[in-house]
Amino acid sequence: MARIGLLGGTFDPIHFGHLRMAEELAQSLQLDTVKFIPAATPPLKTPPQVSANHRSAMVKLGIAGNPCFALDERELTRGGPSYTVDTLRSLRSELNAHDSMVMFVGSDAFKQFNRWHQWQDIIQLCHIALVDRPNGSMPTVLNEELVAFLHRHYTENSLDLQSQTAGFITMQAITPLTISSTALREQIKQHQSARYLSPDNVLDYIDQHRLYQA
Ligand code: ATP
Repeated sequence: MARIGLLGGTFDPIHFGHLRMAEELAQSLQLDTVKFIPAATPPLKTPPQVSANHRSAMVKLGIAGNPCFALDERELTRGGPSYTVDTLRSLRSELNAHDSMVMFVGSDAFKQFNRWHQWQDIIQLCHIALVDRPNGSMPTVLNEELVAFLHRHYTENSLDLQSQTAGFITMQAITPLTISSTALREQIKQHQSARYLSPDNVLDYIDQHRLYQA
């Protein structure tokens, strides 16, 4: 039975907040692999600043050398709005019946989870691991619908996630890193150093292709 972690995002660009979260959750949830899934067109966010090809190339560089991490480009090849539910169904169709999937979601993203396309179906397809993102102020701002959803599926025992292939929500403590792609892009635009916010090979790529400079 394989246990697969999923981190979807814009990755505009990938940074250590993403990588450290994936590393810590892979360890705490005993996952075999973590798939990084760049979105083509995120339905609920402003469009990415650089092309899907660039974002995907940067994810590839960022995860290089970690045998547990993999790039999954299915949302880019599919095109159109990147609905998570479609991605999960497509992944499910490739897995064995006993394999489990855990989708990682930051507290900022979870706040609007009930606006995601067919959001109620998502929990039938995977588990959800919530991570508190610094400044995400998770519990206070969740609306009633999400609070009820959380109560229905929540477990404090991460071992529960190994007893079923989908259906649980857990909250995992990770090292808080106040890094965001938005802040990183801003540093580059202002000609400030972005070193130690993202791997050197990613920053070299940004430099070579003159990304985020205007
Ligand atoms: P932007 O600043 O452009 O909105 P971002 O830094 O939030 O980008 P995304 O690619 O949109 O990056 O994030 C993908 C997922 O990773 C989301 O679930 C988000 O909450 C989570 N995430 C991003 N940065 C961090 C961080 N520093 N700590 C924890 N989770 C994070």
